[in-house]
Amino acid sequence: MAEHAQVVIIGAGIVGASIAYHLAARGCADVVILEKESVEVSGSTARSAAGVRHQFSSRTNILLSKYSIERFRHFSTEVGGHAELHQYGYLFLFNDAQKWHAYQPTIALQRELGVNVATLDPTEAASFIPELNISDLVGATFCPDDGFVDPHGIAMGYLARARELGVRLLRATPATGFEIANGKVQAVSTPEQRWTCDVVVNAAGPYAGEVAALAQLDVPIKPYRRNIYVTEPFPALPRTIPLTIDMATGAYIRKENENVLLGLSRKDEPASHSTSVDWDWLDTVLEAMLNRFPILERAGLSERQSWAGSYEITPDHLPILGRMPAVSNWVNAAGFSGHGVMHAPATGLLIAEEILDGQAHSIDISELRIERFKHGNLHAEQNVI
Ligand SMILES: Cc1cc2nc3c(=O)[nH]c(=O)nc-3n(C[C@H](O)[C@H](O)[C@H](O)COP(=O)(O)OP(=O)(O)OC[C@H]3O[C@@H](n4cnc5c(N)ncnc54)[C@H](O)[C@@H]3O)c2cc1C
Repeated sequence: MAEHAQVVIIGAGIVGASIAYHLAARGCADVVILEKESVEVSGSTARSAAGVRHQFSSRTNILLSKYSIERFRHFSTEVGGHAELHQYGYLFLFNDAQKWHAYQPTIALQRELGVNVATLDPTEAASFIPELNISDLVGATFCPDDGFVDPHGIAMGYLARARELGVRLLRATPATGFEIANGKVQAVSTPEQRWTCDVVVNAAGPYAGEVAALAQLDVPIKPYRRNIYVTEPFPALPRTIPLTIDMATGAYIRKENENVLLGLSRKDEPASHSTSVDWDWLDTVLEAMLNRFPILERAGLSERQSWAGSYEITPDHLPILGRMPAVSNWVNAAGFSGHGVMHAPATGLLIAEEILDGQAHSIDISELRIERFKHGNLHAEQNVI
């Protein structure tokens, strides 16, 4: 039996939820969200470090952040639910004079776009983090408007409002195949149904490359495990410390209530959907952490609360947004490379425009369209953690 929906969205994470909400809010509520798991918002969105920041090197990423963080500020009144935005800032620490010098145009770009970013000397940076090792630091940047949110609460807020407006959410319903004819998706298959539709949105997060492959489409997104190691309650670090990144190693910390979250990407790990914590990597993480944040010597680790999830990474660490040239009613909204929570509000707005107005227009997404890989004109995001 075939059923019909104007738009079929694949994936009920924060991105699919935001798109569904933005479509419905503009009057397009004939939308079905297919979610393979029995519970919505249980993918990467539920495993994020939840940081939101303006401090990017790419103009488009900065604009996506500016729009999105403003929406988080007004989430309760505009959408409902709670974004839990805590603007304690992001602090970037530099120890390499050459890299610090090379970073100055990025700061200038951020300021040109209206980002309130300060440059600090090492002593000023030390005022944020007790016992911070500044012996080798040459400079730092701080933006007080950065911070962190509650990704699960935001996604559930978007979904609740979208469903009130008429959007249908089908749990335990994976998209398993696509019928394509005349350069268009005609139908999406699930184990029990066939959905004809006008538009398909690929919001499958770390599975977006595999979902596209089901339609014989090449969307270069791969899943890579990322770990968050969590300490036992550690009040010696104040709750209000900024999310602090040691640019020498990529190690970052932030507080979640009384616990400290510790993150450091393992860049040599092959792609996989593994979400078990990588305990072999812990020694490397601790070495980097204790060098920069020696106060953590006195913190205990909570194995029980530590977790892992998947980044969904593209070759240039920028998302892939917009229509597929070869299949004009296939729209991608994935590949955020570790930034999908913070860019979800802007993505919902822009993908709704792409579908309802023919093209996204509130922010120029030409550098995010998939055609960039064909033209070989990549300007990779540099501030990837
Ligand atoms: C450890 C870690 C730290 C992170 N830190 C940050 C951060 O600080 N800030 C930030 O902005 N981002 C961060 N991220 C990235 C962020 O979590 C993701 O970019 C974001 O959650 C992506 O949202 P999504 O909705 O696209 O994907 P998901 O939340 O994964 O949702 C995709 C959904 O699609 C479903 N799906 C997949 N295949 C199918 C199918 N065939 N049919 C139906 N459904 C399907 C999945 O089950 C899933 O529910 C982090 C991620 C990790 C793992």
